[in-house]
Amino acid sequence: MNLSNINLLKTDSYINGEWVKSPDQKTFNVINPFTNEEIARVSEASKSQVEEAIKHAEDAFKIWRKFTAGKRSRILKKWYKLQLDNAQDLAHILTIEQGKPLNEALGEIKYGASFVEWFAEEAKRNYGDTIPGHARDKRIVTIKQPIGVVGAITPWNFPSAMITRKVAPALAAGCTVVIKPSELTPLSALALAQLAEEAGFPPGVINVVVSSNAAEVGETLCASSTVRKLSFTGSTRVGKILLKQCADTVKKVSLELGGNAPFIVFDDADLDKAVEGAVASKYRNAGQTCICSNRIFVQEKIYEDFLEKYTAAVAKQKTGNGLHDGTVIGPMIQEKAVQFVEDIVQDAQSKGGVILTGGQRQSADSLMFEPTVIANATTDMKVFSNEIFGPVAPVFKFETEAEVIALANDTPYGLASYFYGRDYARIWRVAEALEYGMVGINTGMISTTVAPFGGIKESGFGREGSKYGMDDYLEIKYMCWGGVE
Ligand code: ADP
Repeated sequence: MNLSNINLLKTDSYINGEWVKSPDQKTFNVINPFTNEEIARVSEASKSQVEEAIKHAEDAFKIWRKFTAGKRSRILKKWYKLQLDNAQDLAHILTIEQGKPLNEALGEIKYGASFVEWFAEEAKRNYGDTIPGHARDKRIVTIKQPIGVVGAITPWNFPSAMITRKVAPALAAGCTVVIKPSELTPLSALALAQLAEEAGFPPGVINVVVSSNAAEVGETLCASSTVRKLSFTGSTRVGKILLKQCADTVKKVSLELGGNAPFIVFDDADLDKAVEGAVASKYRNAGQTCICSNRIFVQEKIYEDFLEKYTAAVAKQKTGNGLHDGTVIGPMIQEKAVQFVEDIVQDAQSKGGVILTGGQRQSADSLMFEPTVIANATTDMKVFSNEIFGPVAPVFKFETEAEVIALANDTPYGLASYFYGRDYARIWRVAEALEYGMVGINTGMISTTVAPFGGIKESGFGREGSKYGMDDYLEIKYMCWGGVE
């Protein structure tokens, strides 16, 4: 592997400041989804190692929470700087284990690091309130305290940033963490742990357990009464399992789950900008993000013009090995993901959908799926109700504002939504009517550290980033002082 800092390539779990192998020497392999070659064999953490990690995090919590906010902030800032100093290597690791183009991977590393910087600053602003008392002799004060040990379960589509987005606010608040990254992309998580070690976090503050037995690790984290908070990003299916498992210990939970984002183009929109936004929001990470536009709705009058420009722009995108210059779309993550996309494309075709570009994988043994546009999409197709999670854009035609709002909201999901138009009154109306946690207005790119990322309905709850992001890791306590005569 072509790294300047070979120390970043780790293959063991990181527990209490040590790299630990599986007690029974069990390993699992990490595969490059473009070449299908094995990149590394990683030690499989056992259940008892996960329990040890929780115990060490509990011990470390007693120390870490007592650090002044300024001291925690300085260590976080160091971690941030190390991530930027090593950005090229981190991006390289990310691309080979996940497939996204190197430029995009570099973007993820910088985006991920920005959460560490942001929450290093927020750590110092964990303010409480004073509240006018309800009786003459009463005084009321609130303080916010770290909740305790946090379990973080993260997905493969953002192997680095989904970790920092949870861990940075947790650490800033004074919590300690046990992270379980996706078994498909553990190397990015371990590289972050190596940099955390260099940044000087006390042992046990950050622990990373790698395992291909996600269910076992999940159960162990959820069943532990020491773990006071679980933060999960992944599918709605797994999120529901974890939420149930957290009931017995009444854990605080944050869930960032699936989406089914509408992307609406009204007929007064700037068409070229809408096309640009629709390409950006659909094909980033080969369509494998939970905020990728899933259903594109275009108003009747401009439907054909939009399709023509959009198809031309989509077909132009260079696909291939993420390490090669100019690649903008890499492989999908694994075989079953490609098969799912093949199935929903066939379903759309069988129900009258017209493939304007793409439509299939590039060769029988490859995970590369061609960027695809489907015209004449209808609500009876699987592409309407399922999260596609691949480079496939179904384009629906609509007539009225009321109709498109109803269509957009006709889903159990409520994460991201987008629309393009110019009429300012309609912009307000539509933004208010969309049942989503996030609305992009005349933009297809909404992710930023400074705004609260999160969903409603079956897309989950909790917010990541922004001034709200630390709340998920804090408890509010109020003190009622009596006898102040
Ligand atoms: P995706 O569809 O994006 O792969 P998943 O929800 O399957 O999303 O995976 C997200 C994360 O959840 C990964 O770290 C994965 O290992 C983990 N995971 C999968 N199944 C379970 C489970 N039963 N319990 C706990 N974690 C799980």
